[in-house]
Amino acid sequence: MNPYYSNTDTTKLFVLDEEWKRVLPQTMYEVSRLGQTERPFTGKYWDSDEKGTYYCAPCGNLLFRSTGKFASSCGWPSFFEQAGDSSVRYKKDHSYNMERIEVICGRCNGHLGHLFDDGPAPSHKRFCMNSVVLDFVPDKSPITK
Ligand code: FE
Repeated sequence: MNPYYSNTDTTKLFVLDEEWKRVLPQTMYEVSRLGQTERPFTGKYWDSDEKGTYYCAPCGNLLFRSTGKFASSCGWPSFFEQAGDSSVRYKKDHSYNMERIEVICGRCNGHLGHLFDDGPAPSHKRFCMNSVVLDFVPDKSPITK
């Protein structure tokens, strides 16, 4: 049971790692709070083109729409644009002797993945995300009477 999850509450969260460890599944915690990376081609969403919305799995913050997702061969779900202004924030990441831009959730500051500049035009952005910290909600099919 994760009391911090909400798709509507946009209040920023300041939750201790030990509390996240208590409420999140272990692999979600390891990516979100410890910055680990899931192995490529293993996550739920890298190969999905279903229509819907992607939220931060630890906190429920709106992150991406399927309309901003593209088919990438990298093995992780990849997007060329974020869904809203407060969806994500960026941090410089110098780990592993690389200059990378870390993408973190705009609400819970959890690690989501990295931003690269080899995405499709016109944005050329590639938000390279970890499936395990994404929560996908499919669009409702139209009601037919
Ligand atoms: Fe979050």
